[in-house]
Amino acid sequence: MNLDRDRLWADIETLAGFTRPDSPWTRRAFSPEFDAARAWLARAFAEAGLAVRLDACANLIGRRAGAEPGLPVLMSGSHCDTVPAGGRFDGIAGVAAALAFARALRESGTALRHPFEVVDFLSEEPSDYGVSSVGSRAIAGRLSPEHLAMTDAAGETLAQAIARAGGDPAALDRPLRRPGEIAAYVELHIEQGRVLEAAGLPIGVVDRIVGIARHALVVTGRTDHAGSTPMDARLDALAGAARVIAAVEALARDLTGKPDYVVATVGKIAAFPNAANAVPGRVEMVLDLRAGSDATLAAFPELLKSRCDLGPLGFEIAPISLAPATLCAKPVTEAIAAAADRLGLGHRALPSGAGHDAVNAALVAPAGMIFIPCRDGRSHVPEEWCSPEELHDGARVLAETLLDLDRRL
Ligand SMILES: [Zn+2]
Repeated sequence: MNLDRDRLWADIETLAGFTRPDSPWTRRAFSPEFDAARAWLARAFAEAGLAVRLDACANLIGRRAGAEPGLPVLMSGSHCDTVPAGGRFDGIAGVAAALAFARALRESGTALRHPFEVVDFLSEEPSDYGVSSVGSRAIAGRLSPEHLAMTDAAGETLAQAIARAGGDPAALDRPLRRPGEIAAYVELHIEQGRVLEAAGLPIGVVDRIVGIARHALVVTGRTDHAGSTPMDARLDALAGAARVIAAVEALARDLTGKPDYVVATVGKIAAFPNAANAVPGRVEMVLDLRAGSDATLAAFPELLKSRCDLGPLGFEIAPISLAPATLCAKPVTEAIAAAADRLGLGHRALPSGAGHDAVNAALVAPAGMIFIPCRDGRSHVPEEWCSPEELHDGARVLAETLLDLDRRL
């Protein structure tokens, strides 16, 4: 089976071209550029011999029938939306690679035992409605009435936007796929990190997608005059917050690699009253904590507290949200590694520090991900880049993996 490298690359360039011209590469879900990209994708799916439909959450699906009746579907894809001023590969690389496999099946006359579906999930990136991974949430029944009622700046609800994209929000009160309906889900994606590039390896076998916990960190002191309050009489909440931030960084450095991948970031901070001539009386921060195991996620807040001696200042940690770590399915990760071996492509296991549609797919199916390198590990920026060879190697591993799973599952 021949995966056409130049055609795959041309598909990436065509899809990337559906961008807001004033801000490449921007293709926000529900935007005119997004609609145009999807119209092109639907035609490309059809030309590859796939039966094209939108499901109730406006996930774009192209399906090829399987030879053996009654078998569950093999699924591969990703998303074609981007963050504002994002890159040309995040998301569409996985859709284009799955499409290339469908084309190769058709052109080589290869019959799979299982049905095969290429999926372009709706709105994986954080949408203007405040929800991310909209389409993949729906397949697992994780799009709640509260999510559907969220609005964008213009007051449109997510439900209305899904209907505008061709979905049927009234049917989203139940999972769109049941366990057993999907034999396996395999997603190719750029790594969005530097591990593969640094190791000189073309293929990453994702073994887990980190869990993400967000916590509100609040340091309380007392607001006083910056000139007339001596140093020994202050309760400076921002000076305390600085010690908390340093402790967050030190703790994550100490924990990571033993054995979990751990990263922790204080990326959002508000000081009150935030005036040049006032001792800060209160600081509110958000801790973004990611780890390869739920136990590490759970232990972090108490460890942090034990490391922060803030004296008379108040320090509270309150959970905001928790998405548990996702383990990729062994049969899928083993198939990916074996496929890379057969193709003579070096590989290593690694965690994904970013969330993906595969997190939701894993709730209803054995799921795995193939990472390909991206230059300097940069992603969600216009400079995001991988080479035609790197993309093609990843797509070949995807195809080989799917052929293998089709034989064995
Ligand atoms: Zn992505």
